[in-house]
Amino acid sequence: MKIVINGIHANLRFSAAHMIPCHEFCGGIHGHSYHVDVQVEGERSGEFGFVVDFKKVKELTRDICKKLDHKLLIPLNNNEIKFKKLEESIEFSIREKEYKIPAEDCTLLPLKSTSAEDMAEYFTEKLYSSLKTDEAESNTRIKSVQVCVNEGIGQGAYFERLD
Ligand SMILES: [Zn+2]
Repeated sequence: MKIVINGIHANLRFSAAHMIPCHEFCGGIHGHSYHVDVQVEGERSGEFGFVVDFKKVKELTRDICKKLDHKLLIPLNNNEIKFKKLEESIEFSIREKEYKIPAEDCTLLPLKSTSAEDMAEYFTEKLYSSLKTDEAESNTRIKSVQVCVNEGIGQGAYFERLD
């Protein structure tokens, strides 16, 4: 069985800025109001016959959203981004463009890009590992975690992590 959580209605949202280095239209810093849909597939178990507790999944997803909310999202593993400083200010360049942003305004992510595709993988892997760590304690058997990271209404990237 599968549980489905709609990010708009369940308030799994964040607003953030990012850029896709060297992309013609998305290369400049711009923002999105993201929402994150989550599905978890598994066997029903425990006293209540849950796949997994909705509350738990929402809390874990919100924790991730919170770290990204109102930040500039910067991928640490992008070949086009040359970092110069990662201290109180984050200094980097992308070809001829120079950036200096206060660290408190940024979230650095261990990703190649902060595209919806990479963000979907990021959310999925984080949720999957948290739910798996919790499995014995919460008496659940999770078979897959699926996340859609939506860059506003009408477009998102979907990723599935199978057990
Ligand atoms: Zn964008």
